[in-house]
Amino acid sequence: MGAALIDGKAFAATLRGRVAAAVTRLKAQHGLTPGLAVVLVGEDPASQVYVRNKGRETVAAGMASFEHRLTAEISEADLLELIAQLNADVAVHGILVQLPLPKHIRDETVLAAIDPAKDVDGFHVINAGLLAVGGHGMVPCTPLGCLMLLKDHLGDLSGREAVVVGRSNIVGKPMAQLLIAENCTVTVAHSRTRDLPDVCRRADILVAAVGRPEMIRADWIKPGAVVVDVGINRVPGLEPGKTRLVGDVAFDEACKVAGAITPVPGGVGPMTIACLLVNCLTACARQNGLDAPEL
Ligand code: NDP
Repeated sequence: MGAALIDGKAFAATLRGRVAAAVTRLKAQHGLTPGLAVVLVGEDPASQVYVRNKGRETVAAGMASFEHRLTAEISEADLLELIAQLNADVAVHGILVQLPLPKHIRDETVLAAIDPAKDVDGFHVINAGLLAVGGHGMVPCTPLGCLMLLKDHLGDLSGREAVVVGRSNIVGKPMAQLLIAENCTVTVAHSRTRDLPDVCRRADILVAAVGRPEMIRADWIKPGAVVVDVGINRVPGLEPGKTRLVGDVAFDEACKVAGAITPVPGGVGPMTIACLLVNCLTACARQNGLDAPEL
């Protein structure tokens, strides 16, 4: 029997609808409109597409979108000045600086300048720390989306063996923290892990966030495991000159062993922007002394 497909695209559409309904209530009951400021430095084509999509989804959810497109030559000091203005602006509840930044600007300095309450990417060290100690900070969007898909499919995650392959600050580490908070027994694997296939075979929940096309093979997967594939890798397509997207998991063969799996595309990817909207809504509510709306 083949694995069940975890449809992140459909789930994200439903979630965006719930966010839009919550925004409508927030406006009607409290006169508040969540506002998201997105800062793009330079002309990176992929970043331009991401920023355009984020702006479109923000407006579609009934929120205000503020786009700041800056030339690649802007100084770090001028960028920090803009961040300070956005921190002080009461119409802006979420600030997102699109990475990567040009080489002369330090990512960590810019991310540290964002007010943690407005840090809708959840990358600020205060938010990373809050996640580690179980506090109410901003949670990075991609792992938050993965967790939502897992809970929707499995319900209670308590006691399950989870293996996260990848230990980046934006995916692997926060994913591990979230799974610990759900009472999973969590192993974090990385490029120095010995006998990775054996480690993966322990997993009831296997999250792949590596950036290596189709690295995780069927015989690394415990029969019936739930596999969440975060990887987005562009590889040569079947026709000459064409490319296609694949994940970090060898999807076709994994489907024969896993109990459920997220496809690439259409799995984790669409959840990331939907969770950005969730975070902006949460940030707006909290900055106004309200609880995060139920979704
Ligand atoms: P990073 O490059 O920051 O981290 C990759 C991690 O994978 C590192 O911890 C690295 O280990 C580990 N790794 C690399 N090679 C191996 C290997 N051969 N065996 C075991 N572990 C390995 O990537 P990100 O976390 O930023 O992203 C991971 C993937 O997720 C990428 O494909 C990215 O495009 C995708 N992504 C998708 C998103 C979405 O919205 N769906 C959002 C963000 C990312 P070490 O630490 O030892 O170097």
